[in-house]
Order: sequence, then structure tokens, then C-alpha cells
Amino acid sequence: MKAPSLRKLNSLKREWQKRLHLLDWKISVGFANIDFLKEITATIGPIGACEHFAELKQAKIWVLQPSDWAKEPDEREQDVEDTVVHELLHCQFAPFGYESDIEKLYIEQTIETLTAAMLELKRANGRK
Ligand SMILES: [Zn+2]
Repeated sequence: MKAPSLRKLNSLKREWQKRLHLLDWKISVGFANIDFLKEITATIGPIGACEHFAELKQAKIWVLQPSDWAKEPDEREQDVEDTVVHELLHCQFAPFGYESDIEKLYIEQTIETLTAAMLELKRANGRK
């Protein structure tokens, strides 16, 4: 599949920022390399990250740059819309506790579920 451009990321961000009722937030989106993502997420195989500042309603969203994608096709890496929706949803969860590992895990699981539900709604028409 064709590597997404920065323009594509921005258009996905605009589309989903509106859909997720985050228009009162100032959110930027960009590509980042794997080392940067590992550093800010403290995870092993990150494909995206969200630095959010809830009190300012500002966030920076990062998506793994295509040149760092694995050689074997990985659906998770290539579905940048999924990554953008996931990272945008982190803004909605920004006020919640990120203190313990178990809280972080519950938030990640909830965001994964909501992202899947959102994309199913959008993509259902084309598929069925
Ligand atoms: Zn996440």
C-alpha cells in the first residue's frame, strides 16, 4: 500500500477531530521515528503517541513514519486512520488517572474498543 503523506494525516486528523467533538482542542499531527516514539510511550513496538495537556486543551499526535514500518506488512502500522483515531481518543481520556500501570492498561483497552467501534461505523457501508 502507498505510504501516507503528511497531508493525509492532517486530513484524517481534521475529519476525526470533528467527529470526536474535539474542535475546542488545538491538536497537531506529524510523523515520528521509532526511537522517539519508544522514548515518549515507554513501550516496545509503538505505532503512535499522544502528548496531551488537558488543562490547555492542546495535544501533539505522532504517527510512526512509514520508513520505520516493518518489512513484513503489518496491518496495525499501515492503518494510520486507526492510529489517528486512537491517539485523538487519548485527548478525551486525558483527565483520567494515568498513575498506575493497571489504570493505563484499562484506558488503552477502552480506547482500542472505541477505536474499533468508530472505524466499523465508518467503514461498514463499503464492506457490507
Ligand atoms: Zn494508546
